Parts: sequence; C-alpha cells; structure tokens
Amino acid sequence: MSDKSIIVIGAGIAGLSAGCYGRMNGYQVQIFEQDTLPGGLCTSWERNGYTINGGLGFLGGSGPLVKMHLIWRELGVVPKIRMIDYEYFVIVEGDEGKRFLLYTDVDRLERHMKELAPEDEKVIDEFISAVRVFTRYHLPFEKAQELYTPWDTLKLLCSHFSLIRALGKWKKISIKEFAQRFTNPFLREAFIQLRALFSEDLPMVMLLMFFAWSHLKSAGYPEGGALRFAQAIEDRFIGLGGKIEYRARVDKILVENHRAVGVRLDDGQEHRCDFVISAADGRTTIFDMLAGKYLNNKIRGLYDTLPLAPPVLLVALGISREFLDIPHCGVGIIYPLKEPVTMGGIEMKSLRPMVYNFDPTLAPAGKTFLRVVFPANYTYWERFKENPDAYRAEKDKVAETVIELLEQRFPGISSHVEMRDVATPLTFERYTSNREGTIIGWDVTTRTAFKRIPKTLPGLRNFWMAGQWVELGGGIPMVALSGRNVIQLIAKADS
Ligand SMILES: Cc1cc2nc3c(=O)[nH]c(=O)nc-3n(C[C@H](O)[C@H](O)[C@H](O)COP(=O)(O)OP(=O)(O)OC[C@H]3O[C@@H](n4cnc5c(N)ncnc54)[C@H](O)[C@@H]3O)c2cc1C
Repeated sequence: MSDKSIIVIGAGIAGLSAGCYGRMNGYQVQIFEQDTLPGGLCTSWERNGYTINGGLGFLGGSGPLVKMHLIWRELGVVPKIRMIDYEYFVIVEGDEGKRFLLYTDVDRLERHMKELAPEDEKVIDEFISAVRVFTRYHLPFEKAQELYTPWDTLKLLCSHFSLIRALGKWKKISIKEFAQRFTNPFLREAFIQLRALFSEDLPMVMLLMFFAWSHLKSAGYPEGGALRFAQAIEDRFIGLGGKIEYRARVDKILVENHRAVGVRLDDGQEHRCDFVISAADGRTTIFDMLAGKYLNNKIRGLYDTLPLAPPVLLVALGISREFLDIPHCGVGIIYPLKEPVTMGGIEMKSLRPMVYNFDPTLAPAGKTFLRVVFPANYTYWERFKENPDAYRAEKDKVAETVIELLEQRFPGISSHVEMRDVATPLTFERYTSNREGTIIGWDVTTRTAFKRIPKTLPGLRNFWMAGQWVELGGGIPMVALSGRNVIQLIAKADS
C-alpha cells in the first residue's frame, strides 16, 4: 500500500476509472469535478417524469464473452446493472418497404444480406469473414501498451497475427469506399449510412469490431442509461475510500521544479498531491491549466492538425404511448425522408430515431422515451452564444421539425409528444468543457485510426492524461481503459 496521493481532474468515465484503479492500487485519490454529477458526457437528465439518456447507446464489453468485460466487473458496473442485448445493430429502411436488417448475430446477418443482394455474394463473404476474424480475438487490455517490452510485442504479434493483419487492412478502407463494392444500389446506399454520427472517412475496422462485439453479445445497453452507469462507478470509487468534490473547477495545475504538485480551483483553493491526472478536455489541460508550457512539436502538431469528431444535436422526446412493434436496435432505425431537410445548418436525407422501448425505467408506465441524435455544425450554433432568446427559438424549431419528420415514419406520433428537450453542441460544451462540444474527442478516420497520443507531456514530471483526448475516437470502454492504464504507469514510475 502506498501513502501517496493522486488528484484527478474530471469525474467522467476516465476520471472515475482512474480513481477506482488508483484506490485499488493503494493511493489516496481525490477527484475534482466542475459539474454536480459524475459521468461527464456519459450522462442523463430528468424532464417531466422521463429520464433522458443523453449518452451511451451501447457498451463495448457488456457481456462476458469479451475479455474486457472484466473492467466492468472491476469498476462495479457488473453485476449491479442489467445488460440488455440488441437483436439488431440498426435497421435501414428504403423506399417500397425495403429493409436492411443488421442482425447482431453474424450468421443471421450473412443469410439476410445474401437474400437481399445475391449478386453481391463475394463482397458479403469478404465482409462477414472479416467480422468473424474479429470475433476470434480478444483485444489485449491487461497491460498498458506503454509498458510493453520487446518480448511482449513479439508475443502479441505471434498470438494475434491474423487480427493485426486484419486491423492493418481494414483501418485503411472507409465504410464509404467499401460500400461502393456492392452492386445492389439499396445495399450500397444503406451501408454508407452505417457510419451514423461519424465523419465520411470512418474506417471499416470500427464497424467490424462493433459487429464482432455485438455477435459476442458484448455491445449491449446498460439498463437505466448513462447516468446510472456512471453512478455505479462513482459508488465503487466511494466504496473503495475515494473522495470526490463536485462544483470544483480546476483552473490551474500547480507545478514546482517541473513536477506537478497539485491543483488550484477557481475559488482560489489549492490542493497538493504526489501525482496529477487530468481526465478533462485536452486543450484546456495543456494550454490553459498548464499555460502551454509543456509542449513539443509532436503535441503542438497533434492539436494543430488532428480533426475533431463532429458534434451532435440530441432531440429527446417523451411519448405517451408504447411501441411494442419496434424491434430493439443498438443505433436505431434509419428511414429516408420524403424531402431533404436542413436542421441546425446540416442537410438531412434520413432520420435515425432510437426508440427506448426496451428500457421501461426511462419513462412512466405505458409511455416511451425516444431520442434522435444527428451530426451538428458547431459554427452554426456558436453564434447563438450571446443570444439566449434566439438560441431557445432555434432549439424549438429543431424539435418541431424532428416531430414533423417522425410523423412520416410513425403517423400520429405528434399528438403523443408530452416532453421535448434539445441538447446542442453548446450544451455538451457548457457541461463538460469538451472543445466544440465534441462527444468523442478526435475524429477516427482512415488516416488517424489507432494513432497513439502521449499520456504525458514533455518536461513535466508526475503528470498524466487520461480519457478521450489521449484515446483517439474516445468511447466508454477506451476511456475506462485509459484510466486503468494511467494508474499502471503511475505505479511503475512510483516503484
Ligand atoms: C449522445 C452521446 C452518445 C454516446 N454514445 C456512446 C456509446 O454508445 N458508446 C460509447 O462507448 N461511447 C458513447 N459516447 C461517447 C462517450 O460518452 C465519451 O467518449 C466518453 O464518455 C468520454 O469520457 P471522458 O471521461 O474521456 O470525458 P468526459 O466525459 O468529457 O469527462 C470529462 C470530465 O471532466 C470535467 N471537467 C472538465 N474540465 C474540468 C475542470 N477544469 N475542472 C474539473 N472538472 C472538469 C467535465 O465536467 C467532465 O465531467 C456517447 C456520447 C454522447 C454525448
């Protein structure tokens, strides 16, 4: 057991995870969080008797067939929270009743795709066999990659050869490029839409990994939604003896002799410690809390050139009826709009509602929570920062438009809408301080996938970073792993 102390900035999933593993490794841990609740982007909020699940649609490692599941046990999520498996990843609907059913079971998916487009058998075989490769391997997570010895790397190369080859191949091909290989026009168009919220250049490898996890019943949904999930980890942290302070915004990381020694809060209070972990926005950490003093060309270059993932608009609706006939989909149902519509500066040709009829805890009995999340344009919303009335009016307009568009798929729905709420990039930015309100940090593209981002800064000792700004593409499993890894790095440096 160590008598040393760690301060963690931010109680998002990365910060909470670092806190838990810090305690498991015997450190005194204090988390400072600017908000009033844990979770950061992994959050929910209440409106008129509904719980708006404002994050977390699916959780990598939700089931025991994927080794990373262990993390959710260690962090107190499992068995506390029931995981719900989806039957479909998504359903893409087309004209004249066409439907591409993306079963999470890969054998059913293969059969369905071949029925839908027998002429594309070869491309379907290539896709399905790639998914199967990903189902055969567990991504190694036990040890932080920064701690790998040459021997560890060699062992990994030998034991995971097919996986590494597949990663190399599929990270260079975007979903959009791969879709062009289908001759069936419906399948081709439907496939492109699978990138959902991500940029056009999203690599196939992300989709393959997701399908592999789904097939292994390990990309499910934690009942109760995002905040309940975060609170389970907060409970674990407090149960382990960790301390957490809310409404505590860190302004500055204290440094003496190029060693991080504590933090200063915005009310002027100073707190000292042996190690500091920032699990907050990367740019704020490096350029504000540390005043840009610990940089080299590599880090400056990353912040100058890496693209941010597109931010989103989230329209949440409380519907006073059940949707018993709607299948359970991890990402929702995509249907084409009769006419393209521009909302928040983005042209939409389809809509992707997610009907939470599988989670009764989010709505009063006999009613349903429904959300639509789609890409947004930060610059469009930025101009409303100084004009709250215009901002509210614009949000109302978006909600109205979404309800009208839902009528095309669910006739009569508008008369059942009894709660509506809209979150914009400004909402995510205000509550979490993430740059431009991005929800996963850096964008994953065929050029950036698997790029390693340093967790330390040049010339600064006793300081680490965790979370989506050091794990490209973010996501709950990766940021939780990041918190775990950072504690391993501290323990090693401290030994
Ligand atoms: C709508 C939506 C859907 C999503 N769906 C999924 C999904 O289905 N699956 C998935 O894996 N991922 C999903 N994500 C992405 C995932 O939620 C994020 O990648 C992840 O939660 C990021 O965690 P983090 O801890 O790195 O950062 P954050 O959640 O941003 O946490 C950072 C914390 O630091 C705090 N902070 C910032 N500055 C300071 C300061 N100066 N002082 C003190 N505290 C500070 C913030 O308030 C925040 O709590 C989704 C996100 C959203 C919004």
